[in-house]
Amino acid sequence: MMFSPNACASALLKKPASWFAHASAGIPKPMSSKSVIVIGGGLAGLSSAVALAEAGFRVRLLEKRPHLGGRAASYVLPGGEHVDNCQHVTLGCCTNLEDFYRRVGAENQIRFFDRLVFAAPDGRRGSISASALPPPLHMAPSFMFFPLLGFADKRAIAQALLAIARSGGKPADIGPDANGVGTTMLAWLQKHRQTERAIRRFWEVILVSALDEQLDRIDARYGIDVFWKAFLSTRRGYRLGIPRVPLGDLYEGCRKALARQGGEVQLRAGVRGFLIVDGRVEGVEREDGSVETADYYLAAVPQDVLPELLPAEVVQKEPVFSNLRNLCASPITGVHLWFDRTVMTEPFLTLLDSTTQWVFNKTQLYGGVGRSQNAQIGEQYLQLVISASYALSTRSRQEIIALCLDELRNVLPATRDAKLAKGTVVKEMSATFSPAPGSDRWRPAQKSPISALFLAGDWTFTGWPSTMEGAVRSGYLAAEAILSDAGMPRKLLQPDLRPEGLARLWSRET
Ligand SMILES: Cc1cc2nc3c(=O)[nH]c(=O)nc-3n(C[C@H](O)[C@H](O)[C@H](O)COP(=O)(O)OP(=O)(O)OC[C@H]3O[C@@H](n4cnc5c(N)ncnc54)[C@H](O)[C@@H]3O)c2cc1C
Repeated sequence: MMFSPNACASALLKKPASWFAHASAGIPKPMSSKSVIVIGGGLAGLSSAVALAEAGFRVRLLEKRPHLGGRAASYVLPGGEHVDNCQHVTLGCCTNLEDFYRRVGAENQIRFFDRLVFAAPDGRRGSISASALPPPLHMAPSFMFFPLLGFADKRAIAQALLAIARSGGKPADIGPDANGVGTTMLAWLQKHRQTERAIRRFWEVILVSALDEQLDRIDARYGIDVFWKAFLSTRRGYRLGIPRVPLGDLYEGCRKALARQGGEVQLRAGVRGFLIVDGRVEGVEREDGSVETADYYLAAVPQDVLPELLPAEVVQKEPVFSNLRNLCASPITGVHLWFDRTVMTEPFLTLLDSTTQWVFNKTQLYGGVGRSQNAQIGEQYLQLVISASYALSTRSRQEIIALCLDELRNVLPATRDAKLAKGTVVKEMSATFSPAPGSDRWRPAQKSPISALFLAGDWTFTGWPSTMEGAVRSGYLAAEAILSDAGMPRKLLQPDLRPEGLARLWSRET
């Protein structure tokens, strides 16, 4: 029989006192003076759990799946090969994710790259990297010599980038209007007279993968923020960080951090619903029917799961919860290919004018880690990523692999003679929330209108798009809100990188 959290909660609402008098005998009591139950072991749940444990809380983290990491997780194939759910990359400007990796001892497992290499369908390469010039001019020399754009494209791009930089990353012409809705990135680019090729080979390439959405559906504020924070305001914001190990290995330190304060991580521990009495959470009911209580509850589940864990009346009454349905999802498709020989020497490549957007040389990036002794699938493992992959949603796995192989033959000629030992496709239809104009209106703060209930997740209000950095920010903000409620205020959120050079001057003027 299907469990209904609403039915359970309304039963509680009818007879709270007697139920608790009866039930409390079997309910484990919190051991320390302050305890919290975190529901969800993605980056939002993990970062808040670790920060609260470090502040002295006893934290119980309940995760439904058999592994930690949520959307940024890895698992082991039957042959022993470790596979990430999808390649995840970070940027130098992701200061909170960097802080989280440091707290759990994983910072050395991220390798940063200073040179971004692009490949055109004819196989030609172009790269960008920073020079000694002060930001925002540091990328200008490599951009000037970038061979895959023409003069008119570069002039248009330079003018638009200058408009972003001169405004300190906040151009006045992006909105929002009186209804809180900003202009789309595409409309802003057209207004700034970008050539068709500049849009296709520059803006689209960077923004579709950074924001997992098409330009005509991206709020320009998000798009402009990517360029300001990553490419214009500082020298190291654009550096691409790629894990040297399977994603799951990065979270090993979390369990220890919780255990030090008497807390624990429980896997395969799904929660069915919150027990809410008189506007306050009094417990959580687990899928095995047991009830657990704590001083605080932190829901770090995806935005479409949260309303299912709350009584229907509460969702209906509180716009914070009912508005979540307005956040739309966008898809990402990951393609995993194992070849019988070495077909790629670069660590990663960005493809222009192709369905495939990124190719990661996993064999080289792992450097032998994550590959068991007996894993014999193939000589080289590549992972391809296609963001905002709406067009692939109805295509079969075979069709997608064939399409990607066709594109690889142009940019990686060695694939023409290589044999594909194995190929798999992972379609994540709800990979991220869509950063559409006006979407910020539906993103709730981390302190919920229900007493003792706090929220974390990349979809809560952080100012950042749906990313690992956004998830960690939400976790830190939720932990700050709990600590403040407990009378132990503490600052956890890390500041953005400080603008440098001319960018610093211009950001002060605005
Ligand atoms: C294919 C793909 C590629 C991506 N690439 C990148 C990238 O390169 N860089 C980047 O920064 N971001 C990337 N992202 C986005 C990034 O993964 C997410 O923004 C981030 O991981 C979200 O973390 P979260 O903790 O908010 O949510 P989640 O990771 O979704 O965590 C929620 C957790 O709650 C658990 N849960 C759900 N229901 C229950 C329940 N009832 N009881 C207990 N537990 C429950 C889930 O199992 C899950 O572990 C990508 C996402 C996808 C899907």
